[in-house]
Amino acid sequence: MSTKGFTFKGGIHPPHYKKQTEHLEIENAKEPNVVVIPLQQHIGAPCDALVTVGQTVKVGQKIGESKAFVSANVHSSVSGIVKSIEMRNSSGGMKVNCVVIESDEKFTVDESVKPKGDIDKLTKDEVLLIIKEAGLTGMGGAGFPTHVKLSPPKDKEIDVVIINGAECEPFLTADHRIMLEKAEDVVIGAKAVKKAVNVEKCFIAIEKNKPDAIEVMEKALENVEGIEVAELETKYPQGDEKRLINAVTGRVVPSGGLPMDVGVVVNNVGTIATLGNIIKTGMPVVQRVVTVTGSAIKNPKNLYIRIGTLFSDVIEQCGGFSEEPGKIINGGPMMGIAQFTTDVPVIKGTSGILVLNKKDATIEEPQNCIRCGKCVEICPVNLQPLIISKLSLLNKFDEAEGYHALDCIECGSCSFVCPSKRRLIESIRVAKREIVSNRRKTGK
Ligand code: SF4
Ligand code: SF4
Repeated sequence: MSTKGFTFKGGIHPPHYKKQTEHLEIENAKEPNVVVIPLQQHIGAPCDALVTVGQTVKVGQKIGESKAFVSANVHSSVSGIVKSIEMRNSSGGMKVNCVVIESDEKFTVDESVKPKGDIDKLTKDEVLLIIKEAGLTGMGGAGFPTHVKLSPPKDKEIDVVIINGAECEPFLTADHRIMLEKAEDVVIGAKAVKKAVNVEKCFIAIEKNKPDAIEVMEKALENVEGIEVAELETKYPQGDEKRLINAVTGRVVPSGGLPMDVGVVVNNVGTIATLGNIIKTGMPVVQRVVTVTGSAIKNPKNLYIRIGTLFSDVIEQCGGFSEEPGKIINGGPMMGIAQFTTDVPVIKGTSGILVLNKKDATIEEPQNCIRCGKCVEICPVNLQPLIISKLSLLNKFDEAEGYHALDCIECGSCSFVCPSKRRLIESIRVAKREIVSNRRKTGK
C-alpha cells in the first residue's frame, strides 16, 4: 500500500537529466589495482590506522577505527598489501589520512565476515553493534555515522522511521536503481532500522517520477507489516531530511533542531540497502552504487564500485571524457562537492561522479538584484536569501545570523531561480562559516 502526494512548501523544478542512466542496470565496476581508502569518510572523528605499511589485508578487514562515539570504522575493499599511509585529497573535499592498498587481485575475504542471521531474531543491541562495527554512514552524501543517528538520547522518543528514496538531485539515479534491483536488501535494512529505534511505523519515501521503483518496493512490502511506500511530489529539495519529514508526517523540525526533536529518524535508501547486505552477508561497507554521468562522460553508467577506487579509473571504465571537462563533482550538481582532480577516491558518500562540459559548467556574471522576490518565494526554509547574501557581502554576519542564516540547508534553489544570476548560496555559505567561527570564539 502507498500513501500519496506528499510535498513541502517552496522548492524548485530543475531539469532532471536522469534519462542517461535511469534505465541502466547496475554493473560491477572493473576491479581496481590500487585503492586509496580515507580514514575519514564521515562526519566526526577521523579513524586511527589499524594496519602498517607492508601488512597484508583482506576484503572486509577493519583497517581504521576511533574511540570517539561520533565516528565510523573503515574496512579494506580489496585483499593485498598496504603500500603507504599518507595524506591525500579525498572526494569529500579535504586532505585526509588514507590507507593506500595494492590489490593482489584475489579478493580474499576476511575471516571476520560472516552472515549476521535472521533479522527477525536479532535484538536491538545486536543490530546497533552490527551497524557500528560495519562502519555504516549516510550514503546519500552527508556521511553521518548511522549508529549515532540510531542512538538518540533517552528523552527523544522516536515513533517514525523514514527511508529517503526521493533522490531529487538532478542526474543521480543510484538510489532509483537500488530500489529496482536491491529491493530485498532495502526491506531487510528497513526492518533492522525499525528494530534499532524500536518503532512500529516506517515509510519508504519515493518521488513519483520513479513509478517503477514505487511498484517494485510496494511488491516487496506486500507481506511486510509496518513499512509502506509514501509517494512524494517531484520537487527539489524533496530529499532534504527536514523537508521530507514535513512532507510525510506534517511535523516541522524547529529552527536549529534535529529530526529526533519531532520523533523521526531519516536514512537514505542506499544506506538501508547496504545495511540489508551487511546483515545478509556480514560484509561491512566496502562497495557502493555510484551514478557516473554528465555532458562530458562518454558512456554514462550506474556502477557498483569498491570504496577507494580512484575517480580516474571509474571515468576510464565509462569510456573517458567525451569532451574537455569544465567541472567534476562528487555527487549531484546542486549539493555535490566540486573536485579539482580525478586523483581522488570513491568514498562511502559518493552517490555520483558528475562531469560537465565547459558550456554546462559556465557560470554567468552576476547582475544587480532586481528585487523580484523569486528567491524568497522558493526558499524551502522560508529564508530571505537576498538579504542574508547582501549582509554577508557587507561582512555584517551578526545581522545575517538574525535572519537565520544558519538554517540554510545549502540546497542552491535560490541561486538556481535568480534571474540576475546572483551567487546567493556562495555568500550565504560564507555567512554561515563566519557565524559558526564567531560562536566558537565567543563560546556562545
Ligand atoms: S537560502 Fe539556503 S535553503 Fe534557502 S533556497 Fe537558498 S540555499 Fe536553499
Ligand atoms: S531572485 Fe535574485 S534578483 Fe530576485 S530578489 Fe532574489 S536575489 Fe534579487
